[in-house]
Amino acid sequence: MHDAMQRVAQSELEQRVRWLISLRWLAAGGLFVAVGIVEASLRVDIPLVPFYSGNAALLVLNGLYELLYRRLKGREPVPRRLSPVVLLATAQISVDLVLLTFLIHFSGGLDNPFVVFFVFHMVIASILLSNRNAYLQATLASLLFALVFGGEQAGILRHYQLPGFLSYEPGRRSWPAWLVEFLALSAALYITVYLSTTVVDRLRQRERDLEDANRQLLSKDRLKSQYVMTVSHDIRGSLSVIRTCLRVVLGGYTEPVPGKGRDMIERAEHRTERLLTFVKDLLNLSRMRAAEDLERRPVAVWGVLQRVVEQLRPLSNEKNLTVETQNRAGAATVWANEEAIEQVTANLLGNAIRYTPAGGSIFLSMEETPDSGGVLVSVKDTGIGIPPAALPHIFEDFYRAENAKKWESDGTGLGLSIVNHIVEAHGGRLSVESQIPGGSTFRVTLPRAGKGGVPQARRASGSGDGAP
Ligand code: ADP
Repeated sequence: MHDAMQRVAQSELEQRVRWLISLRWLAAGGLFVAVGIVEASLRVDIPLVPFYSGNAALLVLNGLYELLYRRLKGREPVPRRLSPVVLLATAQISVDLVLLTFLIHFSGGLDNPFVVFFVFHMVIASILLSNRNAYLQATLASLLFALVFGGEQAGILRHYQLPGFLSYEPGRRSWPAWLVEFLALSAALYITVYLSTTVVDRLRQRERDLEDANRQLLSKDRLKSQYVMTVSHDIRGSLSVIRTCLRVVLGGYTEPVPGKGRDMIERAEHRTERLLTFVKDLLNLSRMRAAEDLERRPVAVWGVLQRVVEQLRPLSNEKNLTVETQNRAGAATVWANEEAIEQVTANLLGNAIRYTPAGGSIFLSMEETPDSGGVLVSVKDTGIGIPPAALPHIFEDFYRAENAKKWESDGTGLGLSIVNHIVEAHGGRLSVESQIPGGSTFRVTLPRAGKGGVPQARRASGSGDGAP
């Protein structure tokens, strides 16, 4: 199996094992209550010691499974057929079957209506395990029936009668009748496994089809991005040339252009500049979407943040903004593409500078996430804020809030899309809080370097020229 798929299958199995453990806590609790009720209300004479000790064993075992599960959870999948998590699931179901047989033996054997509970285990086995393994569990259950209930029938094991529950007395069942009952029960188990595995197989096939369709969509999306990338690359080249020509004319290196003509050229130069910014952003975004993996290594975040603050210092000085920084995570490193992280910071800080009125302040900080599993970078400003209705849309391509359009006509609405894309590709999270008046706070969480389980991300081959 492909590595990524194996990882998905493994995490799915882990979730199911977790589910099984939770079910068992419920079942063990329910059993204590059920025995109490049966004993008190029906006055059925069942031996309580094996019951309570069997249930206590179930609780202890479940605690053990829980511990094992926590140790095994999140480990890299092993290429062997029987990974530790599969073994844990198999062992749990087998031991459950043995315990259930034990409990049923002490409460009437085949006479006990709870004998049908074996069917639930077959359904669980079919969901959790491979088909072969599920049929093996049905065989184990049948063997347990044969040994324990057959032993009771043969008089080798004691039969615990459930008085008043069923009409017949011990020993009254004939061997053919016992055999029919045994065969019917065993057949019910195998048929349950057959039906459940058929449904589960179909669902898994559908899931695989959906995954395939998703992969195809992604590859088509990538193709489309490659196309946009090629087109915007060509446009950017021509625009750069046009801008240079216009600057040459405006700089007076050709014949002087007086009055209205100069005004027109200045406007053309300004528009070209705007268009160039837009094309650069588009190029950056499509580059990232077209790429599959992101080359990553441990990146010292604080160094990147300081570098970006210095790069944008002329812009913040121009508007007389105070830019304060605070490092509460020391030399924390994240598992990232340095260029992409620089781009994220430059976009967020660039926006804060752009959307904060002169004389305002910006606060850039870095700290550990509460679970210490990542680094949290925040960019807070005292700017124009984002209207509540616009908040859910600001990470969408080309989206610009109305107040931002009025405040600053130049803008592409692509910066935050790029930021969001990069952060997601790093397995991180981008969030925003904003108030009018008050300002906005953008928060980026990135997984720390060296942590396992960082999702595979796309490769950013961008030149970083989308930075504002
Ligand atoms: P652009 O800044 O080019 O418009 P972005 O994708 O960077 O595009 O931002 C999208 C929108 O999010 C902006 O148009 C603006 O409405 C809002 N926005 C982003 N950052 C801020 C900020 N610091 N303060 C207020 N609004 C912001």
